Amino acid sequence: MNVNMVDLGALHTRLAKELDPAIMNVVRSGAYIKGPDVSAFEEELAKYLGVKHVISCANGTDALQLALMSLDIPKGAQIITTAQSFIATAEAAALLGYEPVFVDVKDDYNIDEKLIEAAITEKTAAIIPVHLFGKSCDLSAIIKIANKYSLHIIEDTAQALGAEYEIDGERKKAGTAGTIGCTSFFPTKNLGCMGDGGAVWTNDDNLARKLRMLASHGSEKKYHNTAIGINSRLDTIQAAVLRVKLRYLDEFNKRRREIAVMYNRLLADMEQYITLPEADEQTSRHVFHQYTIALKRGGVQEREAIREALKERGIATMVYFPVALHKLPVFAEKNKETHLPNAEKLADRVIALPMHTELKKEEVEYVCQALREATKEAFS
Ligand SMILES: *Cc1c(COP(=O)(O)O)cnc(C)c1O
Repeated sequence: MNVNMVDLGALHTRLAKELDPAIMNVVRSGAYIKGPDVSAFEEELAKYLGVKHVISCANGTDALQLALMSLDIPKGAQIITTAQSFIATAEAAALLGYEPVFVDVKDDYNIDEKLIEAAITEKTAAIIPVHLFGKSCDLSAIIKIANKYSLHIIEDTAQALGAEYEIDGERKKAGTAGTIGCTSFFPTKNLGCMGDGGAVWTNDDNLARKLRMLASHGSEKKYHNTAIGINSRLDTIQAAVLRVKLRYLDEFNKRRREIAVMYNRLLADMEQYITLPEADEQTSRHVFHQYTIALKRGGVQEREAIREALKERGIATMVYFPVALHKLPVFAEKNKETHLPNAEKLADRVIALPMHTELKKEEVEYVCQALREATKEAFS
């Protein structure tokens, strides 16, 4: 049996009756840039998220960059973020001349909000929490800190679209309680298109206008550019695909949660070797972009032995992320004195198992049995 990390072909087959005509409509219309599906998708996503303004853009990295550009943060300012994420989160800040400051993570892989305050200096301008692997951060705690020090919050929701959190007793969609929310529609994300895509959103009318202006070469009126912006657009074809898939997002996320619960049940006897993520079919806090486990002991050698044994049985695994952000060559020089023990330890011990909407029960069972054997072997 072969079990892959994702199966986008199977997902397309399941939705082909709706996706194919949606795509062909755009192809025939000729409206490849800024066609009607783009604004329609923005409105539908805004409604889904419960926010006033959604501005689509070319990818999730641009979304982060646009968010930072819109906030008038002075050069040299510090941006606090997590040590465990995809490079894009810190890259956008560094590219604009800001200094990313990395904070350690908790065992659920999200930024440890209790460590944020100690990282704040006079230069701190914003916090970028990342809802990693689909689990929403404790945003209530982060909002308290941000308010105390007048900091912006840019939420990186690339892995957690559709997840929820509770703010002052009110349930909200992850990404919508900070200043600006960002996401990516990279094909493998929970809401993915068939190429690159991204979006930013906010409830602030002025920021929304600015974000749209910046994404469009710094112009609100064509040939009357008022700021240095970028060219970042969502293609009409991608918007058409996303309009179809958005209708299924809650169903996709529900299926991901069911699979996570299945994994946890089948791996419950492995708790002496591995830490399992918290999974509960009822809670919407986690939408399992990834199902990530961590070895309780050992390191890269044991981890790679387990992955190799799974590979021999036809099972794909991934490591998100093998290097904590502050240890990446591009940031390491500036962070020689930075020690973030949990992020560094997890980088050596995490394994992401196959997780996608089309995964079958038999495949999950096969993965768990193989993982059980491989882990016992690695520690024998
Ligand atoms: C995927 C991802 C991004 C970047 O998205 P792209 O669309 O690939 O640019 C940013 N942050 C996180 C956490 C991601 O997973």
